[in-house]
Amino acid sequence: MRVEISRILLEQIMTLAAADGREVCGLLLGSDDRIEAIAPAANVAVDPARHFELDPAVLIAAHRAARSGGPRIIGHYHSHPSGITAPSATDAACAAPDGNLWLIVGAGEAALWRAGPGTGVNVHFTKIHLDSE
Ligand SMILES: [Zn+2]
Repeated sequence: MRVEISRILLEQIMTLAAADGREVCGLLLGSDDRIEAIAPAANVAVDPARHFELDPAVLIAAHRAARSGGPRIIGHYHSHPSGITAPSATDAACAAPDGNLWLIVGAGEAALWRAGPGTGVNVHFTKIHLDSE
């Protein structure tokens, strides 16, 4: 399983993350195997240095656009100022096993994960190869 993203788009996400000491976040738009666009969203978490929560207005607008023929929402991205690109314990606690993509960037690196069913109520993150040619 691999998912494509253009280098320009990946660099855009990296630049957004590098410009902010807090976690940045936004939506990933596209198809099953290609991230075509992003929709940056404000991080409205109470503690944005350590957590992220997408601005619901961006989410609602993207769902509305998708319903009227716009690009599909396939997941979201966020940054880890720590530079660790694996999902945190908080990420795991907040994730739903819905098959959505999680792109995590930090310290100039990026890792892509898919949130699927784990054991019991837990979510299992599967690492997906990110093809940024
Ligand atoms: Zn996280």
